[in-house]
Amino acid sequence: MVILMEMDASEQQVAEVGRVLSGFGLEARLVGGGRKIMCDAGVVQDPVLDALGRLPGVHRVQRVGRPYVLAGKECAEGNTVVRVGRATIGSGAVTVIAGPCAVESRDQLLDTARAVAASGAKVLRGGTYKPRTSPYSFQGLEQRGLELLAEAAAATGLATVTEVIDEQSLEAALAHVDMLQIGSRNMQNFHLLRAVGRAGKPVLLKRGMSATIEEWLMAAEYILSAGNEQVVLCERGIRTFETYTRNTLDLSAVSLVKTLSHLPVIVDPSHATGRPELIAPMSRAAVAAGADGIIVEVHVNPKEALCDGKQSLEPAAFAGLMAEVGTVSRALGRAI
Ligand code: PEP
Ligand code: MN
Repeated sequence: MVILMEMDASEQQVAEVGRVLSGFGLEARLVGGGRKIMCDAGVVQDPVLDALGRLPGVHRVQRVGRPYVLAGKECAEGNTVVRVGRATIGSGAVTVIAGPCAVESRDQLLDTARAVAASGAKVLRGGTYKPRTSPYSFQGLEQRGLELLAEAAAATGLATVTEVIDEQSLEAALAHVDMLQIGSRNMQNFHLLRAVGRAGKPVLLKRGMSATIEEWLMAAEYILSAGNEQVVLCERGIRTFETYTRNTLDLSAVSLVKTLSHLPVIVDPSHATGRPELIAPMSRAAVAAGADGIIVEVHVNPKEALCDGKQSLEPAAFAGLMAEVGTVSRALGRAI
């Protein structure tokens, strides 16, 4: 249920709505900037709806016919803008996140960070706790990697994002990075979603590789309902029968989610395609489809990378990508 207050509703009127709701055993959250909006995710009976609609200061009470409420467009005044360090995602400009799949060494990270910053990226990515398919693959530098991310941020002014895989890595990451990534494999780790919901840092929520759009938005609902409104959705390709690409980039999901939710949506063409030659065309298409940004894997020496080298761009190719994405962004009247 969403309760839209009148534009000039007073604090007392909002408080009264809150009191009446709690009398019905409901707990609404106040959201929205200009217009105050109360949202409650529970099932609400008709008489309750009517009673709320008659309260002074209430403009309209609306039942939401979807399982997600806080993530839905109705529950916000305009689109959410997420602040990540000095960067913003969702403000209308195209935000580019770039960096290696995994943090491997000081030189690798700092060289990559300087290169992507010089080309116009605003956020540095780098995994230090890697959820790998094989237990024998490189698992990440963990705490040391987090320290290197903080050092790279200080050296370049870039904001940082890293994946957290459990409460221990979340606790460790909090002191070192600006944004927490929930990977595809953990999109429905509800315990972890609640934990990042309480963490007070922006969250990059990747779509599960076999998740429906509704499951993805319900995962966002977990984070929002735990008190964290700074959520960015990331389409990273879904599993299909196709084998020539690593996954299948679902660009229609990007445009659709922009109509369903107020949350920013970005695209990861690296994991979606697994092929460096497809990263530029899919990035151009992502911006044209309405994505708020892209996240791209870049490595100073992809051949030697310990993780996802095959899909990583070298810095020169990344500079070319930025020029192409810039052209499309400007054609759409968007800054980059
Ligand atoms: C990653 O970003 O390196 C990653 C593991 O992505 P995903 O969770 O989308 O597979
Ligand atoms: Mn990767």
